[in-house]
Amino acid sequence: MSMHVETAQKTGNAKPRMLESFAPATGEKIGEVPVASRDDVKSAIARARKAQAAWGLLPVEERCARLLRFRDAIVDRAEEIIDVVSRECGKPKHDALSHEVMILTDLLTYYCKNAPKILEPRELALHLLKHKRSVIHYVPRGVVGVIGTWNFPFVIPLADVVTALVTGSAVVLKPSEVTPLSMQKAKDIFDATGLPQDLFVVVHGGGDVGQAMIEGGIQKLCFTGGVETGKKVAAACGANLVPCVMELGGKAPLIACADCDVERTARAVVFGGFVNSGQVCISVERVYAHASIHDRLVDRVGELTREIRQGDPQGGDVVDVGAIIYAKQIEVAEKHIADAVAKGAQIVAGGKRRSGPGQFFEPTVLAKCDHTMTVMKDEIFGPIVPIQKVSSEEEAVRLANDSHLGLNAYVFTKDRVRGERLASRIEAGSVIVNDVLTNYAAAEAPFGGMKQSGFGRIHGDDALRDMAEARHVFTGRLPDPKSDPLWFPYSPKAFKWQLKLLKAMYRSGGLLKKLGRLL
Ligand code: NDP
Repeated sequence: MSMHVETAQKTGNAKPRMLESFAPATGEKIGEVPVASRDDVKSAIARARKAQAAWGLLPVEERCARLLRFRDAIVDRAEEIIDVVSRECGKPKHDALSHEVMILTDLLTYYCKNAPKILEPRELALHLLKHKRSVIHYVPRGVVGVIGTWNFPFVIPLADVVTALVTGSAVVLKPSEVTPLSMQKAKDIFDATGLPQDLFVVVHGGGDVGQAMIEGGIQKLCFTGGVETGKKVAAACGANLVPCVMELGGKAPLIACADCDVERTARAVVFGGFVNSGQVCISVERVYAHASIHDRLVDRVGELTREIRQGDPQGGDVVDVGAIIYAKQIEVAEKHIADAVAKGAQIVAGGKRRSGPGQFFEPTVLAKCDHTMTVMKDEIFGPIVPIQKVSSEEEAVRLANDSHLGLNAYVFTKDRVRGERLASRIEAGSVIVNDVLTNYAAAEAPFGGMKQSGFGRIHGDDALRDMAEARHVFTGRLPDPKSDPLWFPYSPKAFKWQLKLLKAMYRSGGLLKKLGRLL
């Protein structure tokens, strides 16, 4: 991404290039950080590996106890974090508090409380090899790389960081070039807790720094970003055989059924579409409204949208929606609107960038949309909600699934059974009935995408186990004999005996069936 902070300057041999950060709500420079070189990335990974050697040996209970110090420091210094995130993203302080600090704090608390149980060695009840003891141990991977994005520059990358640290790995993290200061603040707070500083290293820079990380010997990568970058990053991971989790784009559909509560649905559309200026991977990106409630819903969404207070969150007045964090998204929004209007869409509210200092785009509602328009098919990642009228649930489900993306989806209906039935037919990693966005805050629940929205999951117990390596330790339950009937020397007798066993055991009605171990 070159950018917003393309002002990274070459200042000669002795000094590192600097990456500048600007407040999108005012355009003013708010800080700078040094850009890492390829050698810096190498050395960061080496330092992290050294710190991990001791960290990984600690019992998980001890790691969790120490990480709670980080949790406490985040809570104690919440105002500082909120201030930096709000200024660097131009987002309301309410958003920085509830969607970043609160969610991270809760996830950290959940994992620290439950990791000893979740990561406990697990003994398997073996189906066939009853004479063996099989235990799965969840062991640290080593150094985990994290590449983050700018829309939630605190919570999203740090969620990966704490997950990795709990499992005993160390982390090297590259934040987005657009929002380096938010992670710098997190790093300062981490270092002040007395936890080993090299356990969590931050390297700043662009895609080349991320690339150097993937090639630098990490044991896993957690990537959050767009689909196109994700493909390049996954290819680089493949070339280096680095396992990766891909958290990519979204195009969340919202199905408003004939029996939905129109007021709640309209409010959900407006919040889900415009919070964080629509720069949320699980934003409401398209609405399919049943014909019987369509007009009322469009009118109410329009009214509520026009009531949104937008402006500089640091400006003194309370605002609901702030700036566009990354200026390029304004052009993306304009292109979508121009394409939609040219094909017959109607602008119900908003529709244009705001003049004056800072990067602002009006929360925009489009009606009369259909799937010939890019706004219904491609990710917007900005404050636009397009609405399409549908004549049946069947049509709504078909259109919801007519997408290369599948992260979140929403269904609004007064009948929860219908909601769950529709949920089971939608191709998305999470489907939420009568609510928007909140699933990301459920520390216990897996989060991630289907189709090109990515692979792997974050949050929840399975993601914690996946962050670790599973080591299978296999021993005997009986005294070990001198040899094994399956070992050398092979003989015709042994072959016959095994064949007999296969037929006796696995035929329908065979031995295993009688023992209740086979269908
Ligand atoms: P990008 O894909 O442009 O960038 C993501 C990160 O990758 C940035 O840190 C970027 O660095 C880095 N990067 C860029 N090129 C490379 C490369 N070749 N190798 C390694 N790293 C690289 O995405 P955006 O930052 O624009 O984020 C927006 C996207 O993220 C949207 O599609 C959104 O839906 C998605 N997203 C997904 C989430 C999820 O949980 N599924 C959550 C949040 C966002 P730099 O910025 O410095 O260029």
